[in-house]
Amino acid sequence: MHQWGESESGESGVLLSLVVPMFDEAQVLGEFFSRCEAALGGLGDYEIVCVNDGSRDDTLARLLEYHGRDPRIKVVNLSRNFGQQPALCAGLSLCRGQAVIVMDGDLQDPPELIPQLVEKWREGFDIVHCVRAGRSNEGFVKRLTSKLFWRFYNRLADVPVQNLGYFRLMSRRVVNAVNALPEKQRFMRSLFSYVGYPSAQIAYQRPAREKGATKYRYWQLWNLALDAITAFSTLPLRMWSYVGLLISGSAFCYAAFLVLRKLLLGGDVPGYESLMVAILFLGGVQLITLGVLGEYIGRVFHEVKGRPVFIIESAHGFGEED
Ligand code: UDP
Ligand code: MG
Repeated sequence: MHQWGESESGESGVLLSLVVPMFDEAQVLGEFFSRCEAALGGLGDYEIVCVNDGSRDDTLARLLEYHGRDPRIKVVNLSRNFGQQPALCAGLSLCRGQAVIVMDGDLQDPPELIPQLVEKWREGFDIVHCVRAGRSNEGFVKRLTSKLFWRFYNRLADVPVQNLGYFRLMSRRVVNAVNALPEKQRFMRSLFSYVGYPSAQIAYQRPAREKGATKYRYWQLWNLALDAITAFSTLPLRMWSYVGLLISGSAFCYAAFLVLRKLLLGGDVPGYESLMVAILFLGGVQLITLGVLGEYIGRVFHEVKGRPVFIIESAHGFGEED
């Protein structure tokens, strides 16, 4: 059972870690830290690991300022913008808490929930999800596409994903398991589900973003969706054998029908239209199949190169500098 102040805590001196990817979040920082500090108040020792994901505004300078004032605020500075998932990985690899909370830096994941998360963790759950009870303040299209995507994804994927956001608490053994997964393309939500362990949920209302802007455009969400599907399902690859079987089956029946008709009725050679339809249809199916193969081969290519998921330019507050 996890308890504050147990032996491991002695070594690292850290019990609870917040891991927060930040990309152009300078406007929110002040409020973010004050609300986190208020929420973390009675919870014992903590660290806030902020990963600066190549921000173009003065996020880094301001983070370092906060780090100077409070060493519990630690800063990982990536060498460029790698994206939210790699930034998360960077934070997870450096944080040292026995419980680790992953959250957005834009206050859409309210820090006030942290005590509840910790409460559940103390009860013995390894993962505590925060499930969005309502997303009334996100656009209709975004809600709809996201709902459809997750429904589709969970049909397809080997491991269903339980919730939508990242906001969650994980125990040290879950974080270690996630860190140990070797793949370079890291769709974190699926990886978190993949490692398993006992989990609990708490519901919350996700507030709208008050300052700054969302970093995701629709094509990025589309790419994210492709990453998610190709990382956890091979159905798109395998289904073409069945489609092929179906098409050749129908073609065979159609051929039998044509032969019979010829024998019974004799006659002319109609069928230009049906020929065109068959050629175009099959051509289309073949191109789609090639495209699907391409998606996977592209990812295999990416994986085989084995490039690091992120590159850390500097780290502040983690003992021996860098
Ligand atoms: N983020 C990041 N790198 C990126 C994009 C986003 O570190 O390339 C961070 C961002 O600063 C925020 C979190 O990921 O803390 C979620 O991003 P955002 O609020 O833009 O996403 P949304 O809430 O709209 O899904
Ligand atoms: Mg947000």
